[in-house]
Amino acid sequence: MRLILLGPPGSGKGTQAKRLVEEHNIPQLSTGDMLRAAAAAGSDTGKRAKAIMDAGKLVSDDIVNAIVSERIDQADCANGFILDGYPRTLPQADAVETMLLEKGTQLDAVVELRVDDDAMVERIAGRYTCSNCGAGYHDTLKMPSKTGVCDKCGGAEFKRRPDDNAEAMRTRLQVYYKETSPLIGYYYAKGLLRPVDGMAEIEAVGIEIAAVLGSL
Ligand code: AMP
Repeated sequence: MRLILLGPPGSGKGTQAKRLVEEHNIPQLSTGDMLRAAAAAGSDTGKRAKAIMDAGKLVSDDIVNAIVSERIDQADCANGFILDGYPRTLPQADAVETMLLEKGTQLDAVVELRVDDDAMVERIAGRYTCSNCGAGYHDTLKMPSKTGVCDKCGGAEFKRRPDDNAEAMRTRLQVYYKETSPLIGYYYAKGLLRPVDGMAEIEAVGIEIAAVLGSL
């Protein structure tokens, strides 16, 4: 299954992608994670990307397209993948279509997580991840069962993203509406768009996505 998860920052793309990884045994390709890894590795591209990401703006299409193109050539993507945070612009959407056509394949669906903006700011302001395994948590919406201990790996260190602050968040939302939301019409016209209610509980959103995918 080749799937795109589309939605504004904080809409739950990463959370739902992780569920889908387990259900379908295909990898989550998060361009945000890949760019953060490049930034942490200290490569030239990574350093340039970090400044752009911290400000909440978009890294150039060329860079992101190249990263994705290389990644989907890897063996674990042969049976499909979940694109999380990509494409984010119309040129990226064209690029992914071309990449897949060249491999003789195509997208199966674009799941759009529909949410409201005020809730997004709250969700983002409270989120953090385990430094060891990357499991996601939230100050009020999803706390570890034992305070300060990761449910998944037992780790005790957590981190917050530098771009999860109010100013970068405003920029990220503006960028989403200007650059990314046109993809909703683009994929609707292609018959690929599958909107789901992203405001429901994590579990309920997962069930709705499973139903949508089951009916493909
Ligand atoms: P995310 O983890 O998906 O919220 O992405 C974090 C940041 O990485 C974004 O605010 C952008 O600066 C950058 N980024 C991630 N994916 C893309 C993309 N597809 N195109 C451009 N920039 C991206």
